[in-house]
Amino acid sequence: MLREIYEIGKTIVEEGKIKPEEQFVDKAKLKKTKIVLCITFKKDSEDTLEYIGIKPEEYDESKSISYLYKGLPGSGVDLMPSTLISKDITTAVKKRIFAWFEGNVDKNNLFRGIYDALINEKEHIIKDISLAYGSLDKESKYNTLLTIKIFDGGAYKYLWDYKEFRDSFIDEAKKQYYYKKSMGESKGEGTCYLCGKHKEVYGFVLPAFGFSFSTADKPGFVPGFNKEWMWKEIPICEDCAVTLEVGKKYLDENLSYGFYGNKYYVIPQVVLPEKSKEVLSEIMDTIERYKGKGYQQGLVADEDDMVDIAMEKGNIMKLIFVFYSQKGGGKYIDILKYIENVLPSHMREIYEAEKNVKSIYGENFVKILFGEKAEGDFVAYRKSKMKNEKSGMNNWYIAFGRIFFSGNKEFLNYVGNVLSGKPIDRRYLIARFLDAFRKEFKNGNDFAFKLRAVEAMMIYDFLREMELIRGEFMAEESEEKMKISTEKIEKFFEERKSTFASDEAKAAFLVGALVNYVLQIQRKDRGLGYGDEPFRAKLYGLNIDEKKLRKIFTEAVEKLSEYKRGSKMESVAADYLSRAGNGWKMNRDDISYYFSLGLVLGASLFWEKEENDEGGEKNGSE
Ligand SMILES: [Zn+2]
Repeated sequence: MLREIYEIGKTIVEEGKIKPEEQFVDKAKLKKTKIVLCITFKKDSEDTLEYIGIKPEEYDESKSISYLYKGLPGSGVDLMPSTLISKDITTAVKKRIFAWFEGNVDKNNLFRGIYDALINEKEHIIKDISLAYGSLDKESKYNTLLTIKIFDGGAYKYLWDYKEFRDSFIDEAKKQYYYKKSMGESKGEGTCYLCGKHKEVYGFVLPAFGFSFSTADKPGFVPGFNKEWMWKEIPICEDCAVTLEVGKKYLDENLSYGFYGNKYYVIPQVVLPEKSKEVLSEIMDTIERYKGKGYQQGLVADEDDMVDIAMEKGNIMKLIFVFYSQKGGGKYIDILKYIENVLPSHMREIYEAEKNVKSIYGENFVKILFGEKAEGDFVAYRKSKMKNEKSGMNNWYIAFGRIFFSGNKEFLNYVGNVLSGKPIDRRYLIARFLDAFRKEFKNGNDFAFKLRAVEAMMIYDFLREMELIRGEFMAEESEEKMKISTEKIEKFFEERKSTFASDEAKAAFLVGALVNYVLQIQRKDRGLGYGDEPFRAKLYGLNIDEKKLRKIFTEAVEKLSEYKRGSKMESVAADYLSRAGNGWKMNRDDISYYFSLGLVLGASLFWEKEENDEGGEKNGSE
């Protein structure tokens, strides 16, 4: 990972896209700055300076380098006498402007001259700054930059315009690579981790730009990681440190994305090292062009350019996904999930599988289940009902996953499994689905229950298509297909044959569908609301094994006969129950799962102009 970031930096530096001084400037932090307050001096030819007032000016991003602003991660101190001020003006001015010159006064005549001028007018200057800041409107007060400006040789000049400040800036920035106030110096002769040369190497390179990890020994982070090294002491030489920092800045500005409360980087890795520069340079140009365009495909939202670009480029590159959270006020990052070697062709497979499964759950399906007024395929319909959920239309597997894998770690594991093509244990998956089903069942929320059932089916179908489910309970039976009386049922199973691979699954599903019919009748005949049907008490809280399933079936048939509402469905379910035989291989969770799906989907999908004047008509409320 470090190497890939380094390669990005190298491409930028070698193409001359950035000047050395430029790369240390903290542009990102000035993004919201509106006003710059300049402590302004007049300089005569003899390095004597005279304070002439505080001059406010509007912040202009194209001039951002002029101020040589750089904050140090987590310390509240700045590298140069350019600082962001907010409330406590006096302390800020003393600690960050006066103190800076005090520490540097002996370096050259310019610094000495400014220091003397500052001291001469100390109280006056502090008062002027407070007044100037106080008179700003509320919006301008945010992240106000305080800096030095000098009227010199007929023009105003900034820190950048003086070699003394530029040199000092670069020296100080580089010093961060090996010096920490709290820990002293860490440098010496050694082998650079990145270029492999034997030369002077530094130990604090990663912390210098807020890129140290509490998890550096995770596989892939630093291949060949030496356990003897502390995270802070990966030896890197000065040239490589500068290059790496350029790469890291690029990563933050272009390849960092938000993700359900997490953040992640997508880092390109070129498969052929000798092509690295050429390919990366092309990628950067493409990213430039993609900026601000709403692309539909992506890992999470529409803005995930890197994945799109990778898919266009094909397998000359791989992707690394790094899910992380920032800690210690930006001082270091914690890697939550690290996935490498993701081929663009694999990303394409994911999108294809999503597309295919999505098309099975199309508008017809939605209308049957949610009523005639419902529009679009299930993904679109669901999105229209869950407006505050931020998810790309083509990434439903992630949005749905968030529902069932509610813990962040479980959720990232799920996404990680899909990205890296690692199978998920089937029993685990079913258990997660059931948790959500039971919750909605208990709440008596019919609409949510339906949503959960379809979401679960789609995730399951998707994972099946990706061949990512481990521990199948049995293979599909032989070709022999009995003609089922209800064509719709047959078609339904046929379209989802990987999900309904056994007669046991089909039987449990159909019993669920039958019960749905019983509940409908009870609601209709007795004028009851959803959740109040007496028969619900017989469903064991959706905790159902083979024996209980048969019992439920028998009771449902009795009820229907009592109501004189017998139907074809009974015989189809009975047929599958007998085909499945006794002593099922399917466990309790699986049976409950398929039963729940049937309970939600079955009736509305298959009851056709029988006595169904209620199924799937009026829902659409939450
Ligand atoms: Zn090096």
